[in-house]
Amino acid sequence: MERAPRYELMRPSEIEAVLKTAPIVYIPWGALEWHGVHNCVGLDALKAHAICVDAAKKTGGVVLPPVFAGFHTMKPYKGFKHTIEISAETIQKLLRECLEQLRDEGFKVLVILMGHYGKAHVDAVMEVCNEFNSSYPDVTVLAFPEYLVAVDDGVRSDHAGAYETALMMHYYPETVDLSLLPKDRPLTVDEDGIGGEDPREKATAEYGKWLAETIVNRLAEKVTNALNKFKTLHRCF
Ligand SMILES: [Zn+2]
Repeated sequence: MERAPRYELMRPSEIEAVLKTAPIVYIPWGALEWHGVHNCVGLDALKAHAICVDAAKKTGGVVLPPVFAGFHTMKPYKGFKHTIEISAETIQKLLRECLEQLRDEGFKVLVILMGHYGKAHVDAVMEVCNEFNSSYPDVTVLAFPEYLVAVDDGVRSDHAGAYETALMMHYYPETVDLSLLPKDRPLTVDEDGIGGEDPREKATAEYGKWLAETIVNRLAEKVTNALNKFKTLHRCF
C-alpha cells in the first residue's frame, strides 16, 4: 500500500530519495484552540496537515507532523477554554530551530502552511521566515495561511464557520457534530467562538472537498514553481 509522504513514517533511504528528486518539506502549523462546540480543538493543525499531505502527493517532498503551537488564540482574545496559548517568542524560537534543522538536512523549499492565522500569529511567523530567507539564499521559505493561496478561486476563511467546518467534514468527518450547535439563534464570536458563514447552513463534506481540492491545487502550483525557480537559479541538483 502506498504510504502518505509523512516524514515521521519514512525510512532514511526514502528520505534520501526525496532529497534527490524534490527537496521540499511542508510544515503544517496550527494550534490547540476552541473551534465551537461542534469541532475538535486541533482543527487548525489537522486541517493544515491534511492539505500538506495532499499537496506533497502532487509535488513530491515530505510533510512534518503538525505543530500545535498558536499565538493570539481564542483564549486571550475571547476567553474560550480548552485552548493552549503559546507565546510569540516560543513560536519564533521553535520555528527558527525547525527551519535551521531542515536546511541542515538538505531541504531546499520549506513550506510553512499556517492553519491558525490570527494576525499577530501570522506576523510572528512571517518575521522569522523573512529573516531566514534573507540570511540563507540557498533555500526558499514559503509561508502563508492555507486559504490565501486560493482567494482568486473565491475561497474565504473563517473561524470554525462553514469554511473550517466543511474542511473537517471532508478530512476528519468523525470529529464534527453539527447537532451540538444551538438551533434557535444566530451564532456569534462572543457567545460561540464561531465567525464567518454559518456552518449549520453551509458546511457539508462536498463543500469541504471542493475547498480542499482548490487549495491543494493552488498550493501545489506555488510549491512546484518555487522548486523550479530554485533549480534554475542554483543548478545544484
Ligand atoms: Zn481555525
